[in-house]
Amino acid sequence: MEEKDLTTKNKKIKYGKQTLIVLTIFLGAVLLGLAFSFFLVPKLSLNGEEEIKIGVNSKYVDAGAKAIYQGHKVNQDIKTESNVDTSKVGTYEVIYKIDKGFIEKEVKRTVIVQDIKGPVIELIGDDVVYVCENTEYKELGYKVYDDVDGDLSKNVITHIEDGKITYEVTDRNGNKALAERTIVKKELVKPTITLSGSSSVSMYQGNPYHEIGYKAYDDCGNDLTNKVVVTNKINNKVLGTYEVIYEVEDKEGHKASVKREVKVTEKPTGGVIYLTFDDGPSAKTTATILDILKKEGVKATFFVTNNGPDDLIKREHNEGHTVALHTASHNYAKVYASIDAYFEDLEKVHTRVYKLTGIDARIIRFPGGSSNTVSRNYQKGIMTTLTKEVEARGYHYFDWNIDSNDAGGAKTKEEVYQNVIKSLSRTRPNVVLMHDIKVPTRYALEDIITYGKENGYTFAALTMATKEVHHRVNN
Ligand code: ZN
Repeated sequence: MEEKDLTTKNKKIKYGKQTLIVLTIFLGAVLLGLAFSFFLVPKLSLNGEEEIKIGVNSKYVDAGAKAIYQGHKVNQDIKTESNVDTSKVGTYEVIYKIDKGFIEKEVKRTVIVQDIKGPVIELIGDDVVYVCENTEYKELGYKVYDDVDGDLSKNVITHIEDGKITYEVTDRNGNKALAERTIVKKELVKPTITLSGSSSVSMYQGNPYHEIGYKAYDDCGNDLTNKVVVTNKINNKVLGTYEVIYEVEDKEGHKASVKREVKVTEKPTGGVIYLTFDDGPSAKTTATILDILKKEGVKATFFVTNNGPDDLIKREHNEGHTVALHTASHNYAKVYASIDAYFEDLEKVHTRVYKLTGIDARIIRFPGGSSNTVSRNYQKGIMTTLTKEVEARGYHYFDWNIDSNDAGGAKTKEEVYQNVIKSLSRTRPNVVLMHDIKVPTRYALEDIITYGKENGYTFAALTMATKEVHHRVNN
């Protein structure tokens, strides 16, 4: 029994020993584990949130992570991998790793790049637009830009209501943008009068005042020109400074007025204009020219040929003009074939004029003028001889020093007019070449005469006493 007891006792002792060993091993393992984790496993954690949402194209600044190893900060040992691309919408990861002791640890952060910015609508023109009554607003335009989708101008939906235009656009990611423009009825404030020409002009004493013109509009661009009232108190007989007043009123009674200053100055004197008409008469045009000259009381010179009705030559003479000779045929090949041929041809028209008027016409003009070069084709040097010979035979020949160019480039009344008036001079006789057979000439004639009279020139017909105007002979 005792032995038995002893065995039992021993067993108890045996048990006790085993438990202690197990406990010891266990504790040792725990301590070892603690030591391992404290000394050999680094601690790694994120700074900031585990998931971050940011807008596309915004700047992403990573908050990083922190690591502790053996009680010390070892942030510098963290290795960071990131595929974050803020230029593209998407979900990205930032991975932080530390490899210390026996274990590699890692933590992750999710970065979501989103399109959170709406498009930007930029209106072209003002936000408030004034539109005239009865006028429809015309869209001034807009530009839309989205940081992800780019130009979205074509996606804009506009909507007009109660004087407001709403512009709406949505980007691909559902971000919406709105813009608004207000349309306000434009109120009339004051009409505008614009004067043509200078606001200060001068005119010569005795001349009528010529209105250069004006235009008037209300604030909505409606033409009010024919509502302008012009008040003109110019006394053209008295030298001085006068005003022309232009007044207008829009339909709402707003008034505007402008003034033009007009100086009446002394008319210059001097300068003679000899209007000369070649190549006629013509049944189509010469009578009208004669009518104008008669009406204006102006005398001129006609260098006639054997063409046209006799009556017109008679009329030229009877109305006080000088009937002069331009050769009968005006045919260069014929008249410049020889000296004799020229005089033979000249004699024919001389006879015609003599029969019709009883006048021994002695004033002549060479076809093409004395400076013509066409005669070289028929006889060399003929003009050099002819210009002397005609004078020797008692004729006076006249060229011209102003060419209206009515037989050349001038095709309109205005061109003929300008060609003449731009060359007028007070210091020499003005011999003007025109052709009574040309249509624009008769339309320009009245204006040329008016200009001459208003500028102090006198008009005269050529006579044998008039100082001859000669070109330089070229053949
Ligand atoms: Zn001619």
